[in-house]
Order: sequence, then structure tokens, then C-alpha cells
Amino acid sequence: MEASVQEDRQAIRQGVRELCKDFPSAYWRDIDKHEKYPQEFVNALTKSEYLAALIPEEYGGAGLGVTEAGIILEEINRSGGNPGACHAQMYTMGTLLRHGSDEQKRRYLPGIAKGDIRLQAFAVTEPNAGSETTRIETRAVRKGDRYIVNGQKIFISRAKQSDLMLLLARTTPYEELKDKTQGLSVFIVDMRNIKGNLQIDPLDMMVNHHTNTIFFEDVEVPVENRIGEEGKGFRYIIDGWNVERILVASEAVGDGRWFIDRASSYARDRVVFGRPIGANQGIQFPIAQAYARVEAADLMRFDAAAKFDRKEKCGAEANMAKLLASEAAWEAANVCLNTYGGYGFARDYDVERKFRETRLLTIAPVSNNLVLAFLGQNVLGMPKSY
Ligand SMILES: Cc1cc2nc3c(=O)[nH]c(=O)nc-3n(C[C@H](O)[C@H](O)[C@H](O)COP(=O)(O)OP(=O)(O)OC[C@H]3O[C@@H](n4cnc5c(N)ncnc54)[C@H](O)[C@@H]3O)c2cc1C
Repeated sequence: MEASVQEDRQAIRQGVRELCKDFPSAYWRDIDKHEKYPQEFVNALTKSEYLAALIPEEYGGAGLGVTEAGIILEEINRSGGNPGACHAQMYTMGTLLRHGSDEQKRRYLPGIAKGDIRLQAFAVTEPNAGSETTRIETRAVRKGDRYIVNGQKIFISRAKQSDLMLLLARTTPYEELKDKTQGLSVFIVDMRNIKGNLQIDPLDMMVNHHTNTIFFEDVEVPVENRIGEEGKGFRYIIDGWNVERILVASEAVGDGRWFIDRASSYARDRVVFGRPIGANQGIQFPIAQAYARVEAADLMRFDAAAKFDRKEKCGAEANMAKLLASEAAWEAANVCLNTYGGYGFARDYDVERKFRETRLLTIAPVSNNLVLAFLGQNVLGMPKSY
């Protein structure tokens, strides 16, 4: 790799670290405790242009690659922050960038890059479909120049904090399809100007992602807000999955490093039985083991990101990175909690908050079982398990 690329990446890492210093653990503790939206942090990240990392320069963004976007998220997590508000914008960007029309990009991207418009809601999951996305039931029926949407979504984060929502809905009934991956379409729903009834009910969740159930009753979406072709939406969403998995892996690496930093530092300082607890192999070795696993996962995520940025196939690497990094982070979380003993449960030490936050990464945005199914079937050629 060219030295200048390395230096640029190091500068991004350093820049995000500096920015995060203004948002110490106490800030995130308060946000978490009162289930607030981290407005000041989002403002700072927007001003610094890191939030618009993936938006091309011609639309006012930074025009960076997935490797750099991953570094940004990693550093936010490593600083002790919760990047929910920012990662959503990065996850969804791929669908709009790759499949949106020029007109849609001109209409939305400059505003998103400036921070005037928020695209932080992505509505896919439904109660009756779960991980089987091709079974979603929310219907979008075309009536002239609009679609009328009816149905229900669950676990949709930040719908109340976002202006736009990317929505996956059914445009052809499941029974009428030969190929069940067809018949779904993606829409940009502008929630600032809703015609019909959009009911957003907050869910009481383990983590502060502002997660909701959403009911659509005759919600009108103009035809010009459909992304790409009707019926091809599942394909468009799948296209974004590799980016999503690489970015989740990066966040997990950041969390893993945060836990290792905290655990090793506490193990050096905490004295019990007349010596630092880190002098005991029962404490020291699990930390070293978790460290090795986080570092290994990091290599896989950089491999996946480099392949993606070179426009090479990276499905296997992106999935392995997500699996390994989320598991390594979860191991590091448990090791850190063990190291802190009772203090790990005291909110003031932040370990319990990060413990909850990092646990999510093994389940959402995709559960690791589905990642294993992808590897088993698509990489190793075994029979479909579902
Ligand atoms: C905090 C939070 C925020 C979220 N935000 C969003 C959001 O913004 N937008 C959105 O669309 N969704 C969101 N989700 C939903 C998330 O993507 C789903 O919860 C996740 O994909 C799993 O789906 P499910 O909960 O329906 O589990 P299910 O599909 O019901 O699965 C339950 C369990 O069974 C396992 N399982 C199911 N089928 C198989 C199989 N064939 N083989 C092996 N194991 C299987 C799964 O792996 C899982 O462990 C969020 C979830 C959470 C918890």
C-alpha cells in the first residue's frame, strides 16, 4: 500500500480520536441513562465531514471508501461511544448511491452531507418474517403516480429522529412469484411530509438505539421516491449487505479494543491479596486471548474492506469479518466484566453499558447464525439449511 494512503488513514484515525475526546464516557453514560439522542456528537461528526464519509465529493461528501468509513466507526466505538446514530447513515448509503437515480442523489445527498436531512432509519424487519426477509408482508400498491403502503415493521431504529426512512416493501404478492427474491421494492419515505397514517411506537430495548414498531396505514409514497426498478428491492438491499457487515465488524473491533484497554489497565492497577490482579494467570491469560482474537478479526475486516474498495468479490470475507469480530468483541466484553468483578456492574465504570451495546452486534443487523448459513451454503457448497 502506498505510504500516502497509510498516512491519510492514520490522519483519519487521529482526527476521529481528537473529536471523540470532546465526548467522554460521562457524555455517553448520560445519553444512555436518559435514552437521549446524541445530537451534539452527531453535529460534531457532521461538521468534521466524517459522517458523510461515503457520500461522493460531487454531492458534498468526503468520497472515502469503506476502509476509511470502518476506521471512523472503529474509533468511535474504541473511544467508548455508541455510533448507532452514525452507522445507520453509512449502512443505508450504499442502496441510494448504487441504485438511486441522479435526481434522487441530487435531491437528498447534499442535504444529508450538510446535516440538514437525516437518513438514519432503515425499515426491513417485520414480526412475521424475521430473518426470512423475502417473507415480508408490508404492501406497497401502485395507484397512478404514488404507492399506497400498508403494513407493520418492527425493531426500526431512529424512526423518530430521522427525516428519511429507507423502506423495503412488497409490490407483488408472495404467492404470485416464481422467484421469491423478486417482488420487493425499496422506497425513500420522507417522514417530514407524510400523507396517510404513520404510527411510530417506541420499544423498551436493552440498548439505546431509539427502536420502534411502525404501522403504515395508507401511507402515500410518490413513484419518484422508489429506488431503482420495481420488484428488484431485495437485490438492492443484498448489495448493501457486504458494506454493512464490514462496518459492523469495524465497530466490533473498536469495542473489542475498548474492552481490552480497560481490562488490561484495571488488571495492572487493582491490587487484591497484595498484588495486582493482572499478575494472576486466571485474569491475565483471558485478556491476552481476547486481544489475540480481536486482532485476528481486525485483519479479516481490513481484507474484506480492501477487496470491497477494489470492487472485488468479498461476500465470504465480509461475512467472516462480521462473525469473527462480533464474537471477539463479545469475548472481550465478558473478560473485561470478569476483570472488573463487582465494579463491572457499576454504571459509572461504563463496562456494563458497553457490554450491552456490543452484545447486539452478534444479533443485529444480522444474526451470526445467518452468517454461518451463508458461509456453509455459498462458500462451502453445503445444502441449504432452511
Ligand atoms: C436494537 C436493535 C435494533 C434494530 N434495528 C433495526 C433497524 O433499524 N431496521 C431493521 O430493519 N431491523 C432492525 N433490527 C432487527 C434485526 O435486524 C433483527 O432482530 C435480526 O435480523 C434478527 O431477526 P429476528 O429478531 O426477527 O430473529 P428471528 O428471525 O426470529 O430469529 C430468532 C433466532 O433464530 C435464529 N434463526 C432463525 N432462522 C434460522 C435458521 N434457518 N438457521 C439457524 N438459526 C436461525 C436467528 O439466528 C435468531 O438467533 C434491530 C434489532 C435490534 C435488537
